[in-house]
Amino acid sequence: MSHTEITAQRVRRIKPSPSTAAAQRVRELKSQGHTIWDLTVGEPDFDTPDHVKAAAVEAIHAGDTKYTPVNGTPRLRTAIRHKLLERHGLECSDQQITVGGGAKQVIFLALMATLDAGDEVIVPAPYWVSYPDMVLANDGTPVVVDCPEAEGFKLTPGRLRAALTERTRWVILNAPGNPTGVAYTAAELRALAEVVLEHPRVHVLTDEIYDEIWYGDGEAPCLAAVEPRLADRVFLTNGVSKTYAMTGWRLGYGVGPAHLVTAVNTLQSQISSCPSSVSQAAASAALTGPQDFVKESVAVYRERRDLALRLIDEVAQLSCTAPDGGFYLFVNCRSALGQFTPDGTEIRTDEDFARYLLESRRVAVIHGSAYGAPGYFRISFATSTDILTEACAGIAAACAQLSPAAAA
Ligand code: PLP
Repeated sequence: MSHTEITAQRVRRIKPSPSTAAAQRVRELKSQGHTIWDLTVGEPDFDTPDHVKAAAVEAIHAGDTKYTPVNGTPRLRTAIRHKLLERHGLECSDQQITVGGGAKQVIFLALMATLDAGDEVIVPAPYWVSYPDMVLANDGTPVVVDCPEAEGFKLTPGRLRAALTERTRWVILNAPGNPTGVAYTAAELRALAEVVLEHPRVHVLTDEIYDEIWYGDGEAPCLAAVEPRLADRVFLTNGVSKTYAMTGWRLGYGVGPAHLVTAVNTLQSQISSCPSSVSQAAASAALTGPQDFVKESVAVYRERRDLALRLIDEVAQLSCTAPDGGFYLFVNCRSALGQFTPDGTEIRTDEDFARYLLESRRVAVIHGSAYGAPGYFRISFATSTDILTEACAGIAAACAQLSPAAAA
């Protein structure tokens, strides 16, 4: 039967998320009966804390099962305001808060609310896979700025200045970042802010979804708190997915200047009206309730991070910059490129390398090119120590079998 093609340009400009595609491939292999050492997962392996679940059940029984205000229940907004005040000393009004079905939706809506065709968004690479496609889907142009490992995978004032044009609307800063886990110091944020202050049209979207999964001293620095002069040009995004193991609840938020938040809320009112009332009750409990879960889970992540760093470091062809936060390692595999597998296949790219790990050792990782950084791969340590140990042993064995020249 013939059919008429009705897909819009914006869909043809983008691709499904590579991490979703990797997860799908792992599911397929598992369903065929293979044991897979899966290091692709982008979510905590812990269960949502019991008091959060209880708050959701209570909300259901209390009849909190109807539409809420577009910008969330008063309880959730108060919880968000308290977090920003207590953690960063930031004060904000209700008109400055928006909520959505995950930080992902909030970021998408902020771009949708602000971009016209040809507007540019600076995306430092390595980047979270969704940013360039979100920009493209909203008619904008992603301007990818390479931030090499030698510079700590961080955007520098010089590189930022060079990338800014008359069309720049946003700079996206994700710290601690996915995939590298690196974060900016307060001084580094101040230096970037100086450049942004020279360009009054430019706004900064900060993605702080991993802010509490933090291995440094004190707290992860936050641009809005570090540079109050940018207060009317920073849109801070965060959520409960990673910190409280609540990825499936789909609840994120954004805080920024009231005019921008109003625009986002106008779109939200036409898109989903509001996020789930039950998830809002759960998120309120997560943000205001006991925080032991966060402390305990971060202690576990820290142990796994140290274990994985040590195991990767033992492999001749691999090296890795230690992450400041999050639950990923972004591993440099450039020394493996150009080497040959036992069956004589050359590993030309990071994608070849990831395929080799999967096919030879059943270890699933995501290739660095998906994050705009060829020559790397990402592993998630949001998994058990056993799986992590087995997977790293598999990676080491696969690397040990590589040789500089094809077998004669
Ligand atoms: N931002 C980054 C950097 C992420 O890695 C993710 C999830 O993988 C998100 C945002 C999305 O978070 P949420 O579950 O709140 O939509």
